Amino acid sequence: MLATQRPNAVPPATKPKKEDTVPPIIEEVVKRSDGNRSHKYSKIRLLGKGGFATCYEYHSLETGEAFAAKVIDKATLIKDKTKAKLTTEIKIHSSLDHKNIVRFHRYFEDNQFVYILLEVCKCRSLMELMRNMTQLREPEAAFIMYQILVAVKHMHDCMIIHRDLKLGNLFLTERMEVKIGDFGLAAQLDYRNQRKQTLCGTPNYIAPEILRSTGHSYEVDVWSIGVIFYTLLIGTPPFETSSVKETYKNIRDNRYEFPKESRVSETAKDLIKRILVSDPTKRPTVPEILQHKFFTIHFNDISKCPRGLQDYASLC
Ligand code: ADP
Repeated sequence: MLATQRPNAVPPATKPKKEDTVPPIIEEVVKRSDGNRSHKYSKIRLLGKGGFATCYEYHSLETGEAFAAKVIDKATLIKDKTKAKLTTEIKIHSSLDHKNIVRFHRYFEDNQFVYILLEVCKCRSLMELMRNMTQLREPEAAFIMYQILVAVKHMHDCMIIHRDLKLGNLFLTERMEVKIGDFGLAAQLDYRNQRKQTLCGTPNYIAPEILRSTGHSYEVDVWSIGVIFYTLLIGTPPFETSSVKETYKNIRDNRYEFPKESRVSETAKDLIKRILVSDPTKRPTVPEILQHKFFTIHFNDISKCPRGLQDYASLC
């Protein structure tokens, strides 16, 4: 489909499949030296379901403030690995404070669930945006990519690797601000040159060095940024096939192409090609990507939300 053909219905919020046992009112008890304080929140609607958590919009009964509550059933926290994942997610996400990272407010628990209160991103994620818009024009992609890049730069400056950057983990507010979320696979490095060994990531976005199990670092996020950039401009991920095995083979062989009919500029192609290189040491860093001509050309588009995205936001 060409970039000009855009259906304009925003997909409906995910429907809960099984019975919803998450309480309509939840209570946070804050222990203080002058006695306990209780804060209550009322459930408004389901926002979405992930592999690990279900997310609802809750409003504070005192202030009316809206939160996205990521709810994790304690019954799923039996394995040490799953518990460790939750602890890591809370520790890393709560340490980050940046306008392009989903704001972490607080977390608490009751007998059955753990609740993580986050900033609500009303326009869902880039996955829904791309289902709706199919392909982005270059000024739109520049506006989105710039926000992702400054957030990833901040994470890398804090020695944090996200390791699962993909459309579904890039949330959007009504002002089309991009906010990186889901730190469930993130890693905090102890020293700048440390290499991590654990396999993680999502098939389409996984970096070749993770498949080679040779150790990985910040460059895996840069690779995913390249995959995201290509996907925004072309409409499908570069290495995608119908089987995970074939996708991994394409990633290992660095086999991808720009469809002949695509109208992507040589400047954008040049940046993608520089990012999607197999050898992680040859990939640009995030500050180097920000210096690329693609972002200087689109300097004005970065500072103001392009019209097409504004139209999408008005439907959220
Ligand atoms: P998991 O850790 O299980 O992958 P996610 O963090 O992906 O869970 O959240 C599950 C779903 O909830 C997401 O796909 C999205 O639809 C929704 N969601 C998560 N965080 C937010 C948020 N801050 N604002 C709005 N919706 C959210």
